[in-house]
Amino acid sequence: GAQSSIGPIDHYLADLHQRIAGVTDGEIATYIPELARADPETFGIAIATVDGRVYTVGDADHPFTIQSISKAFVYGYTLAEYGRDFVLSHIGVEPTGEAFNSIVLDEVHNRPYNPMVNAGAMAAAELIKGDTPEARIATMLGTMSKHAGRSLHIDESVLRSEQATGHRNRAIAYMMLNSGMIHSAPETILDIYFRQCSVRVSCTDLAVMAATLANDGVNPLTGETALDRDYIQDVLTVMNSCGMYNYAGQWSYEIGMPAKSGVAGGIIAVIPGQIGIGVFSPRLDAHGHSVRGVRVCAEISETFGLHVFRNH
Ligand code: GLU
Repeated sequence: GAQSSIGPIDHYLADLHQRIAGVTDGEIATYIPELARADPETFGIAIATVDGRVYTVGDADHPFTIQSISKAFVYGYTLAEYGRDFVLSHIGVEPTGEAFNSIVLDEVHNRPYNPMVNAGAMAAAELIKGDTPEARIATMLGTMSKHAGRSLHIDESVLRSEQATGHRNRAIAYMMLNSGMIHSAPETILDIYFRQCSVRVSCTDLAVMAATLANDGVNPLTGETALDRDYIQDVLTVMNSCGMYNYAGQWSYEIGMPAKSGVAGGIIAVIPGQIGIGVFSPRLDAHGHSVRGVRVCAEISETFGLHVFRNH
């Protein structure tokens, strides 16, 4: 079938992978000790189309933790469950121009600036429904699994490592409780947040998750609706303006795809109506983005003219 025959896209990806595998700049994240154990040479690329074709090269099935990429999917879940107005009253849509773990909060509106920084992601995590903590974890995993088209699970070693070292996130959560931006026990919210960051995925999963966003919320492999199409534009807009933190402006200028990165080295990028890209390689630049991942997205954007504001 189409999936197994070697076509021009496979050749393109093989060549791209081979060239960018020579890039060894950047450093693996070490602030979560378990992440420091990653093999720096691991490198995978996957592209999934909205009609359900998946192209992969390199370590596309190598498992790693999703980290901040989870924020896009949890945000979508909150929009679908609560509606735009309610979510907007709790979490803004304004870029901070600061790092992912910025402690700066929007005191004028009494809410975190956006759902892509840790503060906003924790406010979103508070909104995950369920009668018990276990049920809420299941809701979170179910949301991400629907986007991936398979059951995703938590990497327990990374989770323990996050729990043992996440004091800055604790500080952010307690500051938000103090100012009424969250309303329940910070430790419960932090537990959900650490778990959503510790969900294990591969590049192939990320490409399918991104393609689900590209495909109006319908998973192109399973046909299942993972997110109501009415909220896709909100998620993609916030990814575009805030997904790459204090590099979001330059990323948008040069690459022009709504995207989200995670500190384990994953990046997703979405071309609405066309494809989802998943890239993984653990060496990060100064902004916390996979060096090879950024290079891959830049080349794909340039080669195929995929900047979303380019109309020819
Ligand atoms: N678990 C990480 C943290 O909150 C996620 C950060 C990221 O991927 O950017 O520190």
